[in-house]
Amino acid sequence: MKVKRQLEQLPPYKPGKPIEEVKREYGLEKVIKLASNENPYGFSPKVKEAILQSLNGLAIYPDGYSRALREKLAKHLGINETQIIFGNGSDEVVQIICRAFLEAGTNTVMAKPTFPQYRHNAVIENAEVREIPLVNGNHDLDSMLQAIDEHTRIVWICNPNNPTGTYVRKHELLSFLEKVPKHVLVVVDEAYYEYVQAENYPQTVPLLSEYDNLMILRTFSKAYGLAGLRIGYGIASETLIQQMEPAREPFNTSVLAQAAALSALDDQEFLKDCVEKNKHGLKQFYRFCDEHSLKYYYSEGNFILIDFGIEGNEVFQYLLERGIIVRSGNALGFPTSVRITIGTEAQNQEVFAALTAMLKEKQLV
Ligand SMILES: *Cc1c(COP(=O)(O)O)cnc(C)c1O
Repeated sequence: MKVKRQLEQLPPYKPGKPIEEVKREYGLEKVIKLASNENPYGFSPKVKEAILQSLNGLAIYPDGYSRALREKLAKHLGINETQIIFGNGSDEVVQIICRAFLEAGTNTVMAKPTFPQYRHNAVIENAEVREIPLVNGNHDLDSMLQAIDEHTRIVWICNPNNPTGTYVRKHELLSFLEKVPKHVLVVVDEAYYEYVQAENYPQTVPLLSEYDNLMILRTFSKAYGLAGLRIGYGIASETLIQQMEPAREPFNTSVLAQAAALSALDDQEFLKDCVEKNKHGLKQFYRFCDEHSLKYYYSEGNFILIDFGIEGNEVFQYLLERGIIVRSGNALGFPTSVRITIGTEAQNQEVFAALTAMLKEKQLV
C-alpha cells in the first residue's frame, strides 16, 4: 500500500517516557516528570466534582457545539459565543486550521525552533513550510514578514514561544499585524497565556475587532492542569470560525473534557495560586542558573530552557537515571540545552540537587 508522499518524510511524534516505564527501567521508586509543561499542582478540586457528576452522561454523545462551556468561556473572555472553536486539545485546533487553509501550492511561515505541530500539520497538507530562525531566542517578525508572498496562507506566532519561553512584545505584534497582508491568517498560540507576567505582553482578544485575519489559540492543558483530558480552543472573528467549522469533527471534545473545562473556569483562585507559585519557581531557576553560570532564557511560561554547554541528551540521561524526566534540547533545536518544566518547590529542589551533582561530576563548574 502507498501512503501520501508527505508522510514518508514525517517521523511520528516521540513522546517522553511514561513515569511507570522509567521506574521499571531504572529500578526507581519515585519519578517526577517535568518534561511536557503540565501543571505540577494538578487541577482544581472543583473539576473532580464536575467529572464525577458527568460520569452518568457517558452513554450519550457530547454536545458537539459545547454550548454550556461556550457560553461560560465567551463571558469569561468578553467575546461572542460564535467566536470560539473547540478542539481535542489546541493541538487539534492547529490541525483543523491547517486542514482548512493549507494545500499544495500554498505556504506557511513560522519561527524555528517553535512548537512542532505547526510544521507537522502543514507538511501533511502538502504546503511549503518557511521557517525563520529565532534571533536571540525571539521571533524575527521582520524576516517573517519578508517571507510572506501571495501564496502564504498562515503565519504562526507562538507567544510565549515553546521551547524558549520568550515572548513577542505588544508594540512588535501591533506593528506586525498592521503590515501583514489581509489574505494571510495570523495565528497567535497562547498556550501559556495564564502564566505570563510581562506587562508589555500583548492582550490579543481586544484586537479581534480590528483584525479579521487574527486567530488566538488557548488551552486547558497547561495552567488549568487538564492535559490528560484534551481540550483547547481557538478565538477569532465569527466569519473565520464559520469558515473553519466544516474541518472539525462533530464530536471532537468529550463529555468529561467539556464538564471539566467548565468547572475549571469557575476556580480562578486555584489558577492564581498556581501562577504565583510558578513565578516563584522560575525565580529559583534563574538564581540557580546565575549561581552556576548557566545560560538560559527568561521565560513567560511554566518551563525554562537551560544551556549546559554539553549534549542535551547527556543531561537528559543523567537526570532520567535519577528519576527526573525532562526534555532534551536535541529534539527541540537546541542541542546543548534541556527544557525543564517548573515543578513544585520540592521537585525544583530535587532538580537543583541533581544538577549540582552533575555539574560537579562532569567538571562543568
Ligand atoms: C502544549 C502546547 C500546545 C498544545 O496544547 P494542547 O491543548 O494540550 O493540545 C499548543 N501550543 C503550545 C505552544 C504548547 O506548548
